[in-house]
Amino acid sequence: MKTLAILELVVLGIVAAPAQSANLLSPAATYRSDQILVMPLQGAASDALAKLYASLDSRVRHTFPGLGGLQVVAVPEGETVSGLIEKFQQSGLVQYAEPEYLRFLNAVPNDPKFTDGTLWGLNNTNTADADIDAPEAWDVLTSASNIVVAVLDTGIRYTHEDLAANMWTNPGDSGHGFNAFTGTNNVMDDQGHGTLVSGVLGAVGNNNKGVTGVAWSVQLMAAKCFDSGGNSSDSLIIACVDYARTNGASVMVAAFDSTGFSLSLSNAIYAARNSGIIFVTSVGNNSANIDPAPRYPACYDIDNVVTVTATTRTDTLLPIANYGATNVDLAAPGESIYTTWSPTDNFYTSLFAGTSLAAPYVGGAVALMKVKYPGESHQQLIARVLNGVDPLPALAGKCVTGGRLNLRKALSPPIQLTSISAPGILPYQLRVSAGPNRSCVVESSTNLTNWLPIYTNTTSAAGTFDYSASTSTNSPRYFFRAVSTL
Ligand code: CA
Ligand code: CA
Repeated sequence: MKTLAILELVVLGIVAAPAQSANLLSPAATYRSDQILVMPLQGAASDALAKLYASLDSRVRHTFPGLGGLQVVAVPEGETVSGLIEKFQQSGLVQYAEPEYLRFLNAVPNDPKFTDGTLWGLNNTNTADADIDAPEAWDVLTSASNIVVAVLDTGIRYTHEDLAANMWTNPGDSGHGFNAFTGTNNVMDDQGHGTLVSGVLGAVGNNNKGVTGVAWSVQLMAAKCFDSGGNSSDSLIIACVDYARTNGASVMVAAFDSTGFSLSLSNAIYAARNSGIIFVTSVGNNSANIDPAPRYPACYDIDNVVTVTATTRTDTLLPIANYGATNVDLAAPGESIYTTWSPTDNFYTSLFAGTSLAAPYVGGAVALMKVKYPGESHQQLIARVLNGVDPLPALAGKCVTGGRLNLRKALSPPIQLTSISAPGILPYQLRVSAGPNRSCVVESSTNLTNWLPIYTNTTSAAGTFDYSASTSTNSPRYFFRAVSTL
């Protein structure tokens, strides 16, 4: 839900303490034409107000006594919203008058297990906000349909009703990936793990079936390097990393580990790095600090490796999950994750917990971010993920960011407009914070209805730019907001 709060500036020597910051409304905010909201000045005489209403041919439809006497006021025949607001503001009897904005429900998919609250990692209906804010993020973007994500795992049940439409197809052989054991494109999942991971990342969203992935639409490439017993070794994994790198994958998800440091596997991941591919890996399930006892690939010190531990539905560290203040980047949900499974084409389960289920949350996030920020390097995209986490007390000292994935913040950082000048000092200094490399417009208004763009700039790598507000008109009030042009 978009919220409205706007910095107010009163100039011409009458300087009020401005609000410290503001969330911004969308550039295309629409409002009711039949009524507005009016806050009478505290202490305004009721008979003066009554005369004002009579003179404006307007009437109060509703009053909120517990909210300072806020009034819902009808717009009379032949009057406009902006005209009526102007008249109220000129009356000297009101604190403010503003449009009544229309609001819209967030985009939510119709998949039954999302609707009934089972998919708590996406939207938690029991513990408020112990989730990745997926519905809010889906207002920005739901589809990564042109992004190929390789799942380095046991294969994928590519015929599953909630995965089939999101499978990548190799244009050369019409298969859905590569089987390192057979050297063929038979990637059917004979164990189950890869199908669990795939559903979290990219089960088909909004198809009225089962679950939804973090990305409603994406291209899942099955890179089968684990057998029916859940075993693998480095040459098999390397073959899959190499297949994925040379067949168009731009994200890889690895949900496995061991203590063995392999230079060859490291080099294969480094080659992927040189192609701009992001390698998301889980951290393992030994309840251990992996800083003193490293595990791989989690602990490879390569800048395209994102290492993910797991949280519970109450935003604590999953008890079995490994952690490490240096080697683990962030957390994502990993307990009782309901997702697709491989026994049949319509099988789902929530039997499992573990960091394997956390990594694909981040993999799905990265896929969506590749769409949102197509020109950015793997380092820039990873920085967005890490800067966008929700810090959690339970994760302090357990990973680099001390936080859990927040898809909304990663995908579209909140825009803030902050006063950076002392009250009463002109010109008024404003700072726009909106995440890195983002084009934003500062707009001004005297009536909260008509907004004039006054300054456009792109935020720095640190995510801000400043604006010095001139005060060249005679209007007694200015309101400012900042909006993104993206
Ligand atoms: Ca939430
Ligand atoms: Ca679905």
